[in-house]
This record gives sequence, C-alpha cells and structure tokens, in this order.
Amino acid sequence: MSEPLVIVGNGMAAARLVDELTRRALGRYAVAVVGEEPRLAYNRVLLSAVLAREVAARELELKSAAWWRARGVTLLYGQAAAAIDPDIRRVRLANGATLPYSRLVLATGSRPIRLGVPGMDLRGVLTFRDLADVAAIEAAAAAGRRAVVIGGGLLGLEAAHGLARAGAQVTVIHLMDRLMERQLDPRAAAMLKRAIECKGIAVELQAVTAALHGGGRVEGVELADRRVIPADLVVVAAGIRANVELARTAGLAIDRGIVVDDGLATSRADIHAIGECAQHRGVCYGLVEPAYDQATVLAARLAGNTTATYAGSVLATNLKVSGVNVFSAGDFIGAAGTESVVLHDAGLDAYKKLVIAGGRLVGAVLYGDTEDGPWYLDLIRSGARIERIRDDLVFGRALVERLAA
Ligand SMILES: Cc1cc2nc3c(=O)[nH]c(=O)nc-3n(C[C@H](O)[C@H](O)[C@H](O)COP(=O)(O)OP(=O)(O)OC[C@H]3O[C@@H](n4cnc5c(N)ncnc54)[C@H](O)[C@@H]3O)c2cc1C
Repeated sequence: MSEPLVIVGNGMAAARLVDELTRRALGRYAVAVVGEEPRLAYNRVLLSAVLAREVAARELELKSAAWWRARGVTLLYGQAAAAIDPDIRRVRLANGATLPYSRLVLATGSRPIRLGVPGMDLRGVLTFRDLADVAAIEAAAAAGRRAVVIGGGLLGLEAAHGLARAGAQVTVIHLMDRLMERQLDPRAAAMLKRAIECKGIAVELQAVTAALHGGGRVEGVELADRRVIPADLVVVAAGIRANVELARTAGLAIDRGIVVDDGLATSRADIHAIGECAQHRGVCYGLVEPAYDQATVLAARLAGNTTATYAGSVLATNLKVSGVNVFSAGDFIGAAGTESVVLHDAGLDAYKKLVIAGGRLVGAVLYGDTEDGPWYLDLIRSGARIERIRDDLVFGRALVERLAA
C-alpha cells in the first residue's frame, strides 16, 4: 500500500518536488498537497511580469489540473494547515480536518516583512508576494496615482517598474546607499539607478521610513529626516521572513527558517522542509533555484536514495525590468584574497566585473550586456580552473571559444 506523504504549501518548491518524485517513484506514496492559496501552484517569479502587463495571470500555472490528477495527487488548495502533531503523525487543517502522514514535507515559503512603523495597517499599504497582491496593486495603481515603493531590492524595483507601466508616479525609497546592494557592487548599482530614473521612477537612497500617514487610507510616507512623500498607495518590499509557525507547532528546531540537514530532514527525521521556509547550513534562500535543487534532492531521498545530498546553492540573480539588464552571481564584491577584472564601457553603458580566487571564477556582476551570465555562472558552479582563458574571460564566451577553436 502507498505510504501517505503530506506536503504543506502549494508553491514552486512543492510542485517541483511532486514532479521529481513521481518521475522516480510513482505510486510509492499517496501524495496530498495542502495549499493556502486558492489555486493551483503557479510561477511566482513571473508576478513581476504580470504586474508589468507583459504576461497574463492565466499563463502562470506550473502544471495543469490534469497533470496533478494523472499523478494521483490529492490537492487541497484554499486550505491552510494549522498544526502538526508529530507523535501521532497528523496534520490538522484550519477547517478541523486531519491528515495522517508517514512523511511530511513543509514547503510553506515566506511572507513579506511588514515594517514596525506607525501606519502600516492603513488602507492602500500593500505587499508583493502572491496573485492576490498583484490584483490589489493593479486595482490601486490607476494612472496618475502617486505610489511609493519601500525597498530598492529586486522585488521593489520590479514592483516600481510595474507601477510605472500602469501610469503611476513612482518613488522608490531605499534604506541603503545603493540599489540591490545584495546583488550589485557600487558601480553597477549607480548605473542601475540612472536607468531606473530614466524610466521616470524617482529613487531616494539612505531613506529611512519613519511613519505612514493618512486618515484610514495612506496619504504619505514620512522619512526620518521629516520629509513627507505624498502617496496614494505604498508597496512594502523590504524583505521576506520564512513561514515557520506551522513547524513551531511540531516543536521542530527553528532559527530564521526551519533548520534542515543535508538530507533536507528537520530535527524530526520524518518531517522535511524545502524552499524558502528552510534554513540549510545557516542560509535561508530567497530565490527559486535553491528551492528546486532542494526539491530534487528530497525527491531522490523519498524515492529511496539515502545518499542524495544537498550541499547548498550558488546564487544568481537577474532583474526583470524591461530594457535594464543586470546579472549577478556568487561573490560579486570580492572577499580578501580575490582579484577583480573590470571592463567598463561608458559609451555602451556596459559594465562587467569578474571576481577570481585561486585560479577559479567565484563571482560576476554584469550590467548592460548580460548574455554571458549563464556561462559565467556555469564556470562559478563547476569550479573549473580558468588560468588558460583568464586574459580573455572578461571579453565573453564568443571570443574565448573562437580563440580556442
Ligand atoms: C514578485 C516576485 C518576483 C520574484 N522573482 C524571482 C526571480 O526573478 N528569481 C528567483 O529566483 N526568485 C524570484 N522570486 C522568489 C521565488 O518566487 C521564490 O523563491 C519561490 O516561489 C519559493 O518557492 P517556495 O515553494 O519555497 O515558496 P512559495 O512559492 O511562496 O510557496 C509557498 C506556498 O505555501 C503556502 N503556505 C504557507 N503556509 C501554509 C500553511 N500553513 N498551509 C497551507 N499552505 C501554506 C503559501 O500560501 C504559498 O502558496 C520572486 C518572488 C516574487 C514574489
């Protein structure tokens, strides 16, 4: 008889896990997926494109209803899991029903951080995480409206771009001294700022949000220097926090995320965690690639390969703002003991920085022409020695391959 496997969360990690698991061991488990969002799993990464009106919401579905049915998966979406009783191996849903499991996978993702400043509960203060948020932002962002985005990271800039395309007057407020400081060095960030401003989006750096003002509905954002930026809507994109509350009900080890080992097991061997809710070797990832890597390893484990191991992921980021090409991977700043090779063509508005350590490429930042990003990423991930091609590396793949031919 099939063992009951319950997956909580119907997001990107869960969909990939079911895909990988059913390829390897169809029928071994009776799989049930419980998801709070009232729809089939969808490609969250494309929400920015939906907001920018480049992709229709209906195109986001990762797998069709027929695909799930064909794999015998019981889908309980529009339903939240409320508690886990690990001693009797049962998950309790918010509607009171319980599900027995022999293995449980938590893939609960994360949620946007809400700032601890007055006014966060005013109407018109929104976040950017799911399709419901996109609908709320679209409804609020009629042409000419004044929008403030709090957060100049990847998500904040993509939200700002979408709002600007909808006709809103947008200001991005960012705490740090440069945009996307977790992915870009100062020079690339300065080029990005100029490009964003050219799209008619105002950028305020080193701007600390002190309070949101309004009588019922938001009317402005007050900064710590007392300036008030008028706003009809505010999108808060100031970071994410792993959803760990359910794991807490089972007494699992939790730090910033649900702590997992290299086999993706939590502090209880029969409960696993993958995706943004998991913390592996001290890291909570906020991108989809690590979630997919983890799903693949866990699927192998659940299918019986007890040596499948997840050793961590090298991160790479692409900003999805049309006409602005940015790529970053690995150690893009350059730790002590590394060397940097830099190519900057102000005329072409192009910038490349490669970081090399011990004869290997360890990081890259590309601005303008990002076509070689995946190639540099492969070199970083493989740890291949690059001494032979070092002098030409910064000029790109085409030249390196031509010289080698
Ligand atoms: C606008 C936007 C743009 C992005 N762009 C990129 C990008 O360019 N590149 C990139 O790599 N990543 C990007 N990301 C991040 C990427 O979407 C996530 O890394 C990925 O979705 C993580 O997958 P996950 O399954 O861990 O979490 P999620 O996809 O968030 O899925 C978790 C699901 O669990 C559900 N859930 C939570 N708690 C419960 C519960 N108690 N009961 C039932 N269900 C529950 C949630 O409702 C959610 O549906 C972006 C994210 C956003 C919001």
